[in-house]
Amino acid sequence: MKVCSLGSGSKGNSTLIESHDTRILIDIGFSGKETARRLHEIEVPPESIDAILITHDHRDHTSGAGIFSRRYNIPIYITASTLEQCNTLFTDNDFIKLYQPSRSFVVDGITVEPFLTLHDAVEPVVFALTDISKRFKVGIATDLGKPTAQVRLALTNVNFLILESNYDEGLLRNSHYPATVQQRIASSHGHLSNGAAAQFACELLHPGLSGILLAHISQKCNRPDLALSTMEKAMRPKGFLGFLGVATQDRPTLFLDLEKLKVQTNRNGQYSLL
Ligand SMILES: [Zn+2]
Ligand SMILES: [Zn+2]
Repeated sequence: MKVCSLGSGSKGNSTLIESHDTRILIDIGFSGKETARRLHEIEVPPESIDAILITHDHRDHTSGAGIFSRRYNIPIYITASTLEQCNTLFTDNDFIKLYQPSRSFVVDGITVEPFLTLHDAVEPVVFALTDISKRFKVGIATDLGKPTAQVRLALTNVNFLILESNYDEGLLRNSHYPATVQQRIASSHGHLSNGAAAQFACELLHPGLSGILLAHISQKCNRPDLALSTMEKAMRPKGFLGFLGVATQDRPTLFLDLEKLKVQTNRNGQYSLL
């Protein structure tokens, strides 16, 4: 399996997953044009995308999904409540496919397991995607709020994890956000702090975990180096030798080949940074 974050943060999120000949985009929070531009940047033709999966209704995850789907005739997998909430984005769209949260489905050889989260959207989910032939499992968990038992179950034994590390607690406290916004971000229905993400990653640590990509980094209340160092300080002493990287808002990450990453990590005990 291969993974690339086309960009992540409060101004837009989209993640590309590739397995054999199947390419799936998780969320499109950029304009259709910008999404196509970023795909071209990593040499992936937009028309080669097979499906779009939507995690929740917030604009930073949905704004370009409808237009991109119509332009390239790509099915959108979405829950009924999320569809209702952002219906104007998907009017006259013939490519809607409904899924139910907590019920798995298959998209061209990839098993998709959606699990509800506490995040403050109508019906937000995290996804676990498993390549059926190779049993390689990727977890995508941004906009978490607080990890629930269900989310923990979803992400057990993932081989690669995209995890939000939204804010640094000190930077959030000293930010210009009003107290109500600060409370919303830090609540169990908001986002994970760097510390909470590191603690959660430690809980999920197992020998088959080859890497973690930190995502949804706040541009006002966090810095990539802070998020990364918090994660490193928590994970390395526990013996984690895998890949650690950060997805940023402005440009795609490398197109990571997860199985090669695993081999390299195991053989050399080394890791690299994005
Ligand atoms: Zn978001
Ligand atoms: Zn959200």
